[in-house]
Amino acid sequence: MNKTKVAFFDTKPYDREFFTETNRKFGFELTFFEARLNPNTARMAEGFDAVSAFVNDDVSEATIKELVKAGVKLIAMRCAGYNNVNLAAAYGKILVMRVPGYSPYAVAEYALALLQTLNRELHRAYNRVRENNFSINGLMGFDLRGKTFGIVGTGKIGRVFAELLQGFGVRILAYDMYPNAEAARQLHIEYVSLEELYRNSDVISLHCPLTPENVHMINDEAIGMMKHGVYIINTSRGKLIDSAALIAGLKSRKIGGAGLDVYEEESDYFFEDRSGYAIDDDILARLMTFPNVLITSHQAFFTREAMTNISNVTLKNIEDFVKGRELVNCICYQCDGNRQCPGKGDHAA
Ligand code: NAD
Repeated sequence: MNKTKVAFFDTKPYDREFFTETNRKFGFELTFFEARLNPNTARMAEGFDAVSAFVNDDVSEATIKELVKAGVKLIAMRCAGYNNVNLAAAYGKILVMRVPGYSPYAVAEYALALLQTLNRELHRAYNRVRENNFSINGLMGFDLRGKTFGIVGTGKIGRVFAELLQGFGVRILAYDMYPNAEAARQLHIEYVSLEELYRNSDVISLHCPLTPENVHMINDEAIGMMKHGVYIINTSRGKLIDSAALIAGLKSRKIGGAGLDVYEEESDYFFEDRSGYAIDDDILARLMTFPNVLITSHQAFFTREAMTNISNVTLKNIEDFVKGRELVNCICYQCDGNRQCPGKGDHAA
């Protein structure tokens, strides 16, 4: 029998390392492309059974058309979020699968690390000491104890974030369209309206997916409701925040700090070594000038445990598809764009 051929797009050395190792037990034929998936590069998938794409690949209608033309049957996303996939265009033509919840700990722990780095000025202290400057002037932070946290989205990551906060003696507010009564009881979460969360939180951490409805949910109006000096942490998706509004909030000191692992126009920059080149995105460049803004390159997921799970589940998804098993991680248009698919695998029929 011919080996199943899988084309990986937008790969880095660590993808190749983990997937090659994990594939020893699956035995697929893997090809790793550095190129991002888009309507032009989709042709490279000619002759492959499946493609694997990541967070900044362009899985738009035009790309999907090319993949279908090339004979590809499955798009195996090696991430949890799928806001970059046009599920409506895929429906009935090509199956889409993903890796939900490969390590909520990786992302939740990282959100806390971003907050505490900013709050306790570790990024600035590190640079000072390297310059033999041992002064602590200007590095004062605040105790987390007694503060109010607002968690937007209490799915897998949001709940682990709430779990991590249990030791800090904080009050936890949350907003989710589907409040989780069990989490509320166990993790002392008070579900409130989004407006109440904005008005009362000292720290706001975003853990909801990006959907057409919540693009720029953190905008001028939302920031206007927030407490003076609020900290905003975004490890979810960049487009949840209107960056121009964020800059205005930072300039007016309304926002005390912002920890951003994602940025709305990140795809031109994140994951790439652009040292030596000018940044032509003026908004990103401005954000990078604030001492109380910490930007990282979409790395919250990046732990050994998460990479192991991502490679295992992605290849298992492909195997389930090839062997005609139930597709538990299938996502489709019918799922309302926000819930795990019932997994019959018949959506492309
Ligand atoms: P999940 O599906 O388990 O939970 C998402 C929760 O958000 C659900 O409870 C859902 O009801 C809720 N929700 C949906 N829309 C909402 C809205 N408009 N307002 C409030 N709540 C809303 O997902 P998860 O595994 O917890 O992941 C959350 C997000 O984190 C992903 O969608 C992805 O965008 C992001 N993520 C980022 C990284 C990274 O490396 N930075 C890694 C993994 C996931």
